[in-house]
Amino acid sequence: MSKRIPMMAGNWKMNMDHVQATQLVQKLDWTLKDGKHDFGVVEVVVLPPFTDLRTVQTMVEGDKLDIRYGAQDISVYDDGAYTGEISGPMLSKLGCSYVVIGHSERREYHQESDELLNKKVEAAYRNGLTPILCCGEGLEIRKAGHQVAHTVAQIEADLKGIPAEQAASIVIAYEPIWAIGTGEVATPEDAQEVCAAIRAKLAELYSAELADGVRILYGGSVKSDNVVGIMAKEDVDGALVGGASLKAEEFAKICMFTTA
Ligand code: PEP
Repeated sequence: MSKRIPMMAGNWKMNMDHVQATQLVQKLDWTLKDGKHDFGVVEVVVLPPFTDLRTVQTMVEGDKLDIRYGAQDISVYDDGAYTGEISGPMLSKLGCSYVVIGHSERREYHQESDELLNKKVEAAYRNGLTPILCCGEGLEIRKAGHQVAHTVAQIEADLKGIPAEQAASIVIAYEPIWAIGTGEVATPEDAQEVCAAIRAKLAELYSAELADGVRILYGGSVKSDNVVGIMAKEDVDGALVGGASLKAEEFAKICMFTTA
């Protein structure tokens, strides 16, 4: 019997300045509390741009909100002459619990390789941050039927040399690129196929017990009207939500999927 607590994580991408972040987090908190959301049953996470993190930290700590937060990227270095980079020590000082690593937009637009992402996973753990490690195939690979091989190979490369004590806490987000921001949602069966394969790969790399405890999220056009079907699948433990996380009421509905 798995003890995995579902997670709903809102990836704001490059949206919302720090003033808008205040409004969004406040509204999300009120809406969840209004709906009597049990944060122990479904974990709620927001992933704002770097410039919003201090504001979110002040609200979460000051008002003792049950919402957790994290960053969308991390430098492989902890300090030094790396203009424009944001380090792990800076993120942990800001109270971040999580950091997204390897989102397809960074893999594609910033040419982030699995070798680099592996170093980012190390940097996150070195600084007490839990990676939300993204993986997933593009349309050509899906059409060729190679989605499982492609995605598990990414996971294996990104976790190279990461010890079990660390990997036990990782969160993995399976996000087929063709379903991100397109309105094209993978079927619950599509999501289950790859999430189950990722879990099997973790069992092979580490142990069945470790694999059973790792949360695997699905991401790609998740909305309140499709989340229930996706969450019904055995190996799907939550969602990484882009567009729909920018609307407090819609994201709150997604978080409260158990009461839908
Ligand atoms: C994402 O950016 O991680 C994502 C899943 O976006 P969307 O929900 O908008 O498809």
